Amino acid sequence: MTANVVSPVSPETRRRIRAAIFGNPAVALAKRTTQAGGPLHAMPIETVGVGSRAGLPFECLSTDLYSGCLPAGAICYGNCQQALMIFGRGYDFGDRKLNSFDPDRIRSDLAALDPQQRWIRQGWSSDVSFGDEAWNRVAALASLVAESGRHFVLLTKVFKAPPREALAGLAAARAEVRVSISAFDEDGPLTQRVKFLEAYRAAGGLAVPYLMSLEFAKPELRTRQLEILEWITENDYPGGEHPLRLERTNALSEWLDPDRAFAHPKFTSQTWAGRLYPMELPLPAPPSLRPSYCGFGSGFASQVDWEQVSRAFDHGEPTFREISNGTADLSHPNLYRHGTIHLVPAHTSNTDEVTVAPELATALSQALPDQPSDSGMIASLRREIETTVARRGWIVVRGIPYDPDDRTLLLIGSWLGHPTRYLDQPLVRSLEPAPGFPETAYYAGAGNVELHTDKAFVEQPPHFVVMHCARSDQRGGGDVLLSKASHSFDRLPVQLQDALRTTPVEVAIPAHIDRDAAPAHAFVAESMGAQLRIRLRADLLRKPSPDDFREALNQFCALARESAERVALAPGTLLVIDNWAALHGRTALQSGMDSTRLCHRLLIA
Ligand code: SF4
Repeated sequence: MTANVVSPVSPETRRRIRAAIFGNPAVALAKRTTQAGGPLHAMPIETVGVGSRAGLPFECLSTDLYSGCLPAGAICYGNCQQALMIFGRGYDFGDRKLNSFDPDRIRSDLAALDPQQRWIRQGWSSDVSFGDEAWNRVAALASLVAESGRHFVLLTKVFKAPPREALAGLAAARAEVRVSISAFDEDGPLTQRVKFLEAYRAAGGLAVPYLMSLEFAKPELRTRQLEILEWITENDYPGGEHPLRLERTNALSEWLDPDRAFAHPKFTSQTWAGRLYPMELPLPAPPSLRPSYCGFGSGFASQVDWEQVSRAFDHGEPTFREISNGTADLSHPNLYRHGTIHLVPAHTSNTDEVTVAPELATALSQALPDQPSDSGMIASLRREIETTVARRGWIVVRGIPYDPDDRTLLLIGSWLGHPTRYLDQPLVRSLEPAPGFPETAYYAGAGNVELHTDKAFVEQPPHFVVMHCARSDQRGGGDVLLSKASHSFDRLPVQLQDALRTTPVEVAIPAHIDRDAAPAHAFVAESMGAQLRIRLRADLLRKPSPDDFREALNQFCALARESAERVALAPGTLLVIDNWAALHGRTALQSGMDSTRLCHRLLIA
């Protein structure tokens, strides 16, 4: 047994875990950036602050003490989202740097904090446990937070044990230190984590074993996870649970139980199982702690008044049981509070994606389309949408709760032009598998949808498409594919560009539209001032076409497919597409015609 807790990991399992970590996609991402003319940018040094005054997305958050964390070939479980995001933006996440630490600045941030916010979490994009200096600083931060009358929460993997004074400082501040433990952990690190928990509790601190849980099919890992659980409960630790999300492409996924792994509603390329041990491990992940949370008073679970403490728990991550019996609330915002990270301003990612804060989502749901809003937040979101769509061809806006009356959808649509119905079709169309439609139908089927533009069969197709996701597919898939038309068009030889501009085409009305309308007579590519306008439903082109046109169309579609980007929709994602400048499509729904995926779509003339 490792540190008298779990059976040692077998050499073969250890070899495969290491291979999965070393072969994770962050390694390829980092390599691709350097091959494309790198080197990766050095991580910027920030100044540690707390809450929204410091530009952080949540009042409960402090800046990480380090900027950056582990190298690409060593990230935890080969599965760190922060690492992927930061390598993807061309920064060397493994080039870890200590951020500036100024106690006076932190004191003034704490003084300006919302008084209702009773707890503070240290960072979320790194770990503090890489050196004595960071350990000492985190103890100082804990003491400043305690001085302000708040509870301090630290999550760590204890890569290196703290110096004695830092351990004592954290304990004196009654800091809650959650130590992540997983059945994937090798024996050495696991022993170090367990020893820390024992030493920290002995020093008077609030030590929390924080289990990264998964539903394993592999007996060795199932047993290890249960042994960890047993150690936590037998030793009377107040335990916490964090259901791990694993990319389907992660080699470790093959050890999961396929019948007990669900598509995550936000990160649809990942699977997770929800909380497996809510009774034994009552502390939920930080996104489920209310501002009023102020800890649990004792390092021994049996001495904690859990009924009282749990009043400060908001809707937690759903349990495995809730997900399997369909009673989980998968649209709850706590599931999506992953926000964005420190290389970009709060609430906004770097290019074509924006995550709105909850207060902005509320303001949007109350705003009226025909009244100018004096809210600065709304005006700045509108500007962001208009400029990004004009530059990029689309924008992804996350964090807008779905409302069945489509108020926010109609509001945002009205910023772009006139919401319009075409050929007597509904103004807001539900996109979901519908009985009676073939699997291959575009909006009511479940198969792949080829890249296309909407309503290519009317004389003046809509300029913008706005989609709002209410539910994703329960098993994944249904990602939207997006491709900037000019990017592919500009790569065609001139005579093929001409073929798309000058060959008249007839675009037929799809069979499901019960209307005796004439097909559109048009061109695939047209100039609208300086802008290129594309109309494309390859399956509906009816006129016999000359060879060069067919060649042009094939090459254009192939280039568009090659450069298409994939966007996972989750409940609360709103997507705005310039229907003249960008093609869109969709991957197949994994649950076929039984899929629960539902989006509402509005077209703007
Ligand atoms: S410690 Fe956290 S931030 Fe660092 S690599 Fe692991 S999961 Fe990512």
